[in-house]
Amino acid sequence: MYYIGNHLSSSDGYAAMGNTALALGGNTFAFFTRNPRGGKAKEIDKNDIEKFLGIARENNFGKLVAHAPYTMNLCSVKEDVRTFSKNIFADDIKKMAYIPDNYYNFHPGSHTGQGVQKGIEIIASVLNEIILPEQTTTILLETMAGKGSEVGGNFEELKEIIDRVKLKDKIGVCLDTCHIWDGGYDIVHNLDGVIEEFDKIIGLENLYAIHFNDSKNECGSHKDRHEKIGYGKIGLEALKRFALHPAFAGRPFILETPNDNEGYTREIAMFKEWMEE
Ligand code: FE
Ligand code: FE
Ligand code: ZN
Repeated sequence: MYYIGNHLSSSDGYAAMGNTALALGGNTFAFFTRNPRGGKAKEIDKNDIEKFLGIARENNFGKLVAHAPYTMNLCSVKEDVRTFSKNIFADDIKKMAYIPDNYYNFHPGSHTGQGVQKGIEIIASVLNEIILPEQTTTILLETMAGKGSEVGGNFEELKEIIDRVKLKDKIGVCLDTCHIWDGGYDIVHNLDGVIEEFDKIIGLENLYAIHFNDSKNECGSHKDRHEKIGYGKIGLEALKRFALHPAFAGRPFILETPNDNEGYTREIAMFKEWMEE
């Protein structure tokens, strides 16, 4: 079984996203839990959620990959940013309980001058405060491009965070193909080597979801600019090899490519063709 979808707008609610995903040919999707740049979340509409859960069940949807807002930075040097971030994190986890057993993905954070080690310590301590034994949502750290003071630009940093989290079955990784490429992992010339390294350091059992993107920039550029599948520096062949690699089988693949609905329909159809070849 494979799961493919794209990032959808949450402004119309869950049922609308479910229907849009189906219309585009997908069987999973991602969405921002609130305005990606702001902070306010929509109120929970139980009717909408019931409708969505029905759509997901009838169409065998894979796990959804909710995305935390970009404004969230658990390890900012500024205390008000840290407090704000912790509050929206905790609130998002509560809201995710209405759609049980899905994923909540976030950018580990930017240490804003405090150093990577300090960043890792703060992120892990907040996770230990917020993650609850009874939650059904798995929290996913996203692999980052290593832009600015981002934490999580290599596998070792993510592993260090995971090692410090007490409730191990609630934490994992979301691998972003554009980000690891920009971060210096050459998935074009050395896919098996990169997978081996991921497995050795983080462990493939901790990999839950894929952000499937091409990149506008070269390997190791530390830029983080996504491109349409096949139009960037990773390219079609390498991305196809990645998608078909057995190491990633069964994980939800989420497109975060700069596309309109027509483009997403095309990329989803192409992914399905690869899987069914
Ligand atoms: Fe992201
Ligand atoms: Fe991503
Ligand atoms: Zn990105």
